[in-house]
Amino acid sequence: MKPKRRDFRLDIIVLLGSITAVTIASFGVYRAWQGHASMAAFDLAVVLVVVAPVVYAWRTGDSLRAGNVLAAFNSCATFGACLMLGHTALTWTYLVLLTNFFIAHRWVAVGCNVALIVGIQLMPGFFHDGVHAISVFVSAALITAFSLIFASRTQDDRVQLERLAAIDALTGVPNRRSMERALGDAVDRFQRGECCFGLVVLDLDHFKDVNDQYGHAAGDAAIADLASILRFEMRRNDQVFRFGGEEFVALLQLDNTEDLERATERLRKAVRGALRGPGGRITISLGAALLREQEKTWHDWFSRADAALYRAKSAGRDSYVIADELF
Ligand code: GH3
Ligand code: MG
Ligand code: MG
Repeated sequence: MKPKRRDFRLDIIVLLGSITAVTIASFGVYRAWQGHASMAAFDLAVVLVVVAPVVYAWRTGDSLRAGNVLAAFNSCATFGACLMLGHTALTWTYLVLLTNFFIAHRWVAVGCNVALIVGIQLMPGFFHDGVHAISVFVSAALITAFSLIFASRTQDDRVQLERLAAIDALTGVPNRRSMERALGDAVDRFQRGECCFGLVVLDLDHFKDVNDQYGHAAGDAAIADLASILRFEMRRNDQVFRFGGEEFVALLQLDNTEDLERATERLRKAVRGALRGPGGRITISLGAALLREQEKTWHDWFSRADAALYRAKSAGRDSYVIADELF
């Protein structure tokens, strides 16, 4: 089985699903032992209903859909338990109101909770008196409200963290981590015959001198300016990434070596024309490669572009080399 990314929702689904399945299966065994075959068969069916979303989540990684189904099932089962056992089942109700937010989309959890809370309120003879009904209603509504606030905050934080993990802090362009994902996606799309891609690796020329003569802050400013120029030059389907240090990568959607050559030269000229440091003009060298059919991972493709960059540096800098000319 494919190793899974850390997924808190999947962990809770597996934990809840297993505990519920084991508990109900024990009842089933007890009923079978007592000779109640039909009740035992019913318990077995319930176990299958609980286990199905857990297995689905494991196999597909789609823990959200499985969680939504499991939350709806748990809510229905809790409602059934309240019908059969009366208010002694209330403690389980509170647990389900809370766990629904761990496993389902927050608005699905709200829907399940509202249905459960209203359903219980409408159950004839369930409460001792009106005060009991109101106190259960208020506590259940508060659990739902607090869980919703908590789930919303957690979701916002997760989005913010994912954004921070994908963006380079100095330049604001996507970082190496994003680049690896984008190159992997590009190779997949190319293998499916969707479109062709070119890769440009570029590096500032004699950048160490800028740092040495004018300080690190001036170097940082030049890197940020380079990122702005590159970003401005990207067309709609193109992307630029900071690979690391003073090295950037452009992923371009194009069909042939001629277009790649034109785009690479355009980038060189744009930087040559616009990038200035305290000591004057700063240039870049570029290596580019068109993605080939035999390249099943992005690493080989990247290595060819990087080797081309090395050639451009050796050729005197402020120049480009297209890898396909070399091999
Ligand atoms: P070449 O033309 O061969 O690329 O020469 P170079 O001097 O640019 O290459 P080298 O790899 O020797 O130096 C790169 C320099 O880039 C060294 C490093 O201190 C500097 N650098 C890398 N990242 C940053 C950064 O984030 N900020 C600053 N200011 N400098 C950086
Ligand atoms: Mg350099
Ligand atoms: Mg370098």
